[in-house]
Amino acid sequence: MVDGQLRARGIADERVLAAMRRVPRHAFVPEDLIGEAYADHPLSIGEGQTISQPFIVALMTEALALTGEEKVLEIGTGSGYQTAILAELARRVFTVERSTCLSRAAEERLRRLGYAAIAFRVGDGTLGIPDEAPFDRILATGSLPRRPRRLVAQLGSEGIFVFPVGNRSLQELVAIRREGRSFKETALGPCAFVPLIGEEGWTGGAWCGDTNP
Ligand code: SAH
Repeated sequence: MVDGQLRARGIADERVLAAMRRVPRHAFVPEDLIGEAYADHPLSIGEGQTISQPFIVALMTEALALTGEEKVLEIGTGSGYQTAILAELARRVFTVERSTCLSRAAEERLRRLGYAAIAFRVGDGTLGIPDEAPFDRILATGSLPRRPRRLVAQLGSEGIFVFPVGNRSLQELVAIRREGRSFKETALGPCAFVPLIGEEGWTGGAWCGDTNP
């Protein structure tokens, strides 16, 4: 996976590649899909949600330019796979998931794998975690209809925020880098994520353990 899918397509950050070698992706997929855990596409994790394609995880992580010192906010815990990659490369990770069931399962899985520096929250991640802001890095692993004002406001100085923005079926992956009072936006390429349902996200139906029906 690392050489054939990631390095071959331009992922060059050795720390990201090493983290993706270390984290056992097969521990994050449903049992019946274990044979496809390292395949070049997203996989269903139940509740209509997906674990992102390895390349997309690597691309987003590389764009965050983590050095090991950062306090990171992730929106959309899902299986917890991306959370584990972030925990390998940052000081502290806060991850928010709207589905109680997915959050609990991810928390149990990540504790079992030995990750300690992760705080799990259930709720609408499009609002961020105002009490814990500012964050050095923010990552949304579901799509947004527009630039989310409240998340941008929780980005620290010199911070980086990576998120997919567009319509429900196709988005552009965007990185916003804050330099003091100025915000510079870079486009990283097209992508297709499941939607973030919430105040600054999309409207949508209820699901298991929903906190915002
Ligand atoms: N990063 C995950 C993939 C997440 S898919 C992984 O590696 O497995 C997007 C996730 O966002 C889904 O689990 C979905 O339930 C969750 N989600 C949707 N709307 C949300 C919201 N407003 N706040 C937090 N999580 C949300």
